[in-house]
This record gives sequence, C-alpha cells and structure tokens, in this order.
Amino acid sequence: MVRVRIDLHTHSTVSDGTDSPGDLVRIAADAGLDVIALTDHDTTAGWDTAVRSLPPGLRLVPGAELSCEAPAADGRRVSVHLLAYLFDPAAPALVVEQQRLRRERRRRLRVMAEHMAADGLPVDPDEVLGELGPDAPAGRPHLARALVRAGLVRTVDEAFARFLGGGRGYLVPRSDTPVATAIDMINEAGGVTVLAHPFASSRGPTISEDTIAELAERGLTGVEVDHPDHDPATRRRLRGLADDLGLVRTGSSDYHGSNKTLVIGQETTEPDQFEALLAQATRAPVAAS
Ligand code: AMP
Ligand code: FE
Ligand code: FE
Ligand code: ZN
Repeated sequence: MVRVRIDLHTHSTVSDGTDSPGDLVRIAADAGLDVIALTDHDTTAGWDTAVRSLPPGLRLVPGAELSCEAPAADGRRVSVHLLAYLFDPAAPALVVEQQRLRRERRRRLRVMAEHMAADGLPVDPDEVLGELGPDAPAGRPHLARALVRAGLVRTVDEAFARFLGGGRGYLVPRSDTPVATAIDMINEAGGVTVLAHPFASSRGPTISEDTIAELAERGLTGVEVDHPDHDPATRRRLRGLADDLGLVRTGSSDYHGSNKTLVIGQETTEPDQFEALLAQATRAPVAAS
C-alpha cells in the first residue's frame, strides 16, 4: 500500500516563507505529499490563492500559526506558537485579535530595525516595512533578508545567529495572545489546535509539561512531536506526554522556502493521527474541484 504523506506546518510569502501560496501547493504536490497545511504566522490571507491553485490529488488543510505566550514557572512568560486548523477565518474575536497582532508585529519590527540602523547596520526601517503589504505579519526573517541583501551576512540563519536571536541585542519582545485564549477562540471558530515545536529549546525558554496538561484540559487537540528542532530524546519525551494526556501527535517540516534549509515533507504526520485531528474539527480539508 502507498503511504499517505502529510505535512501540517508550512509558510508562504504571505508571512515569512519564500514561496507564494500557489507555488507552495505545487511544490507540495511535486514532493509527493497528499496533504499539506498552510500555516502562515497570524494570517489567513494565503488561503484563497492556495485553494485556487490546488493541484489534483492534493488536500489542503487551511491553517495559521498563532503567536502566543504562556506563563512560566518563574512568573515570566514564554513564547508559544499555536497551530490552528480548519477554523472559520471570519470569526469576529479571532479577526480582531489577529489584526492587533499584525499591527504589533509591525511596531516591534520597526523598533528592531531602528535600533539596528542607529548602530550603523545596513537596515532602512521604512524600506523593510514598505516592502511588506500594510497588513502583512512582519517578522525577523524580513530583517534577516535585508541583512543578506546588504551583504552583511550570507544566510538568514547567520543573521539570526549574529543579530536576531535571543540575547543578541536586537530582539524586541511582542505582546502575543495568551495561549489559553487562543485555544478558546479557535475552538469557538470550529477549528482544532496543535502546539508547534513545544520543546524547541534552541529558540528560547519553552512551555512546561504542567502548562501543556492544563491546555489539554482546556481543549488543546495535539502537540507537534516530529519537528526539525526536536532531537530524538525530545521526541520520545513529547510522545510519552501526548499519550499520557490523550493528545494527537503530529509531525511537520515547518517549511519556509529558502529562508530555512529544510525540505518540505521531511517530517510527516501519521495518517491515524491526522484522522484523529480531523475528527475534532467541524470543517474538512479542501480538495481540488
Ligand atoms: P518573529 O516571528 O519575528 O519572532 O520571527 C521568528 C521567525 O523566525 C520564526 O517563524 C522562525 O521560523 C524564524 N527563525 C527563527 N530562527 C531562525 C533561523 N535561525 N533561521 C531562519 N529562520 C529562523
Ligand atoms: Fe516563521
Ligand atoms: Fe513556529
Ligand atoms: Zn512555523
């Protein structure tokens, strides 16, 4: 039997990927995927183009990766990315919060760009923001690409390592959505939620197991176990946690085009886990008509 291949976490040019939503679904089909989710940061603006461009045989799971925060044990907050799938994109509370977040992203990226320009780095805040649409979710990869274009660094990865990562001076925090609120909003909008790369510690402090247990009680559907930023031991730990809490386990590439070196479909979700995820959503994936 031919195995169904499912990648539930990808980004397009609508956020910080480098392939348009139309190219992304074609690339997914060419890579032999059967199911692809489009999960741009804090926006659903790519859904329509992806649906219109859908090659025959590929199923699209419309989604988003929501920028959230959770309380940490020491009273501070940790950044949490929440994958949301198959929700009503017009749900009023969600629309308002996503608009606030996109404005917050622009504000924060401008502050970062201004700090960098003030230190003499080749970054023009107006130019970086001007290149993005007025409602685009501005992010650090957009600054990273400006540094690559200026010849200061060779790759986006190098820009993060030298200038944009935590503790490198230019990272400015954002006011993100409390993750419990985001889960409620998505459930209200008929969708399902999966914690993205929950234990990816290279990105900074991570959410605790206790908080994940609370979110499971609250209505979280799953956790991303197989992700390029999780090592084998982390995957084993998350798999055990998911089984203890009755959460769906997903696997996904977090493809960002040439902004990252990974390939689409390099991590995938087991078909039975995908079915378990769909069973909790009120909408179904989209197929080419
Ligand atoms: P932001 O949303 O502005 O905080 O930027 C975070 C985004 O940068 C995430 O979506 C990551 O995909 C991306 N990112 C983080 N670290 C790296 C890296 N080392 N190389 C390329 N992209 C990265
Ligand atoms: Fe990203
Ligand atoms: Fe993420
Ligand atoms: Zn992502």
